[in-house]
Amino acid sequence: MRKPLVAGNWKMHGSRESAVALARAVIERLPEAVACDVVLCPPFVHLAEVARALKDSGLGLGAQDVCAEEQGAFTGEVSAAMLRDADCDHAIVGHSERRALYAEGDQLVARKFMAAQRAGLIPILCVGETLAEREAGATGTVVARQLTAVLEAAGIAAFARAVVAYEPVWAIGTGRTASPEQAQEVHAMIRAQLAGADAAVAAGVRILYGGSVKASNATELFAQADIDGGLIGGASLDAAQFVPICAAAR
Ligand code: PEP
Repeated sequence: MRKPLVAGNWKMHGSRESAVALARAVIERLPEAVACDVVLCPPFVHLAEVARALKDSGLGLGAQDVCAEEQGAFTGEVSAAMLRDADCDHAIVGHSERRALYAEGDQLVARKFMAAQRAGLIPILCVGETLAEREAGATGTVVARQLTAVLEAAGIAAFARAVVAYEPVWAIGTGRTASPEQAQEVHAMIRAQLAGADAAVAAGVRILYGGSVKASNATELFAQADIDGGLIGGASLDAAQFVPICAAAR
């Protein structure tokens, strides 16, 4: 049985004060019996304060990105070891905004995935197609290509310490959600691709859905056989919206 996971991607929002207030509000509102793991992903500069707020709460801390390099002359970058040192346990890699706005390709994403793992972080690997790709019937090809790049570089065993997030680009921040059937179809495909390399690893990998998840659609999405929780953007910025989503993951 895979324990669901719900991660909040706060993107580039907030201040030190509001980040701590949001983390505290999530902790306060989460029912003790919540059945999923919860990970909060604030901006880099708020990690330390949020880590303090999360101490002893049982919630995880994630970074929104990580550098593929270990250390050195990479101005502006943040290494996986630094993130681990800042008490992170997860790091998002390959978010569609990084791929689209910062031209991050499949190979770079694979290197970030491996850098995260080398430092002891669990990568949350985002994959997903654009609207044009879906309309061209290329969803399967695109997602398989994104996954293959990481599989070839890191190997299937690495997925025993990783999370995959299927995030159709057309559903991120648009208010347009994939239907549970559309999402399940791609999730099953991702798991089948991993199973082609190792059935046991594939059966244990948590595959999250992301793209305009709200409390009103979370239950139906999370009820799908291969959907093991969510990566939540907009709705994670408000504890009153985020916590019911966490509660829907069981
Ligand atoms: C995201 O940023 O990964 C995301 C899924 O955003 P939203 O929930 O706002 O669509």
